[in-house]
Amino acid sequence: MISVAQAKKLIKSNLPPRQTRVLEIGSCTGVVLATDVKSGVDVPNFDNSAMDGYAFRYKAGCEKLNVVGELKAGAFPTEELKAGQAFRIFTGAPMPKGADTVIPQELVKKEDDAVVFEKNAVKRGANVRKQGTQTRKGEVILKRGRVLDPGALSLAASVGVDKLKVFRRPYVGIIVTGDELVTPGKKLKPGQIYDSNTVLLTSALNTLNVVPRFVFRVADSRKELDKHIDTCLEHCDVVLLTGGISVGDYDFVYELLNSRGVKKLFYKLKQRPGKPLFAGVRDETMVFALPGNPVSVASCFVQYVKPVIRHLRGFDHTFEPDLKLPLSSDFQKQPGLTYFLKVRTTPNAAVVPKGQQSFNLMPFTNADAFAELDAESEVVRTGTMVNVYKW
Ligand code: AMP
Ligand code: MG
Repeated sequence: MISVAQAKKLIKSNLPPRQTRVLEIGSCTGVVLATDVKSGVDVPNFDNSAMDGYAFRYKAGCEKLNVVGELKAGAFPTEELKAGQAFRIFTGAPMPKGADTVIPQELVKKEDDAVVFEKNAVKRGANVRKQGTQTRKGEVILKRGRVLDPGALSLAASVGVDKLKVFRRPYVGIIVTGDELVTPGKKLKPGQIYDSNTVLLTSALNTLNVVPRFVFRVADSRKELDKHIDTCLEHCDVVLLTGGISVGDYDFVYELLNSRGVKKLFYKLKQRPGKPLFAGVRDETMVFALPGNPVSVASCFVQYVKPVIRHLRGFDHTFEPDLKLPLSSDFQKQPGLTYFLKVRTTPNAAVVPKGQQSFNLMPFTNADAFAELDAESEVVRTGTMVNVYKW
């Protein structure tokens, strides 16, 4: 059995390679940019008016102008404006040649075909957005590694970019095993239990902006398992199995993975919950066989699977804890095992609810994270700073 730290090290040095894709900007929300993006144009691409008003050529003392034309957004002015003249102009319309200033309509009075305003009502150059003030042609607008949120995507659109090279979201296959499992919503027969792991893994992946490519639920049968393992190994970057990895007579997962050429990175860890966790690789696919108890699945997902998924999505330092918090109460543990406790985080503590067994999901009534208790300790005291990992 190896330690949590050794397990993470083995995973880190066997990570599947990241893949890239070119996607339409409309499909890029939440994905990570794989290259720097440069602007091919100046933005704005022409001097334009920042206000609804009148464009004119600034001259100290000018206070009455003849209105000789009109320009709205989308127009293209051809006539040149002369001193003493003005163009009615609307926000976003290009400045006519010869004009350098816009006076807002609120500051003028109309007199027939002319407008009058007070001396020095505006300064030279006022209310004009100059070409290239947002972005210069050739300027880097977004850097590799940027998570594409609405702000970043609208910036890309403003320079005319319609597609971006991003890290492809990983293809993930889920295989949930167990003869006893029933889909929630159906009636339980004696001896059966509801399957919590399918939704647990699917939802945990959704939280990471990943939709699983395959979700299979299979009985404890070698034949069925074989078929689905083959499909997932063929088409996925990460394969997640739950159940069937312990030492029971119906736990075939380890043996089947082995027969499929999955090379073991580790099997069994000094941790609770989740001792029988298996991790392996075949070609460019990483396989995790998670023990069946839902809390083990949750805890192992957050510790080992989530960092791999986030790495593939283009993030760095993905094995780091999300935060550190003082533990809210003493916790007695078995020395030699790292513990992961379901905890509720508050701004100043990791609160430990009752029911820390690996089958017990009730703490998730309000627990929102896992706290890591170091392997050596026999008692972790109130106030001890612990690593906290969130979904
Ligand atoms: P196993 O690892 O297959 O021996 O399963 C360990 C425990 O977890 C057993 O009590 C199973 O019934 C339970 N279990 C396995 N899979 C699930 C699941 N998908 N949902 C809820 N409990 C499960
Ligand atoms: Mg089982």
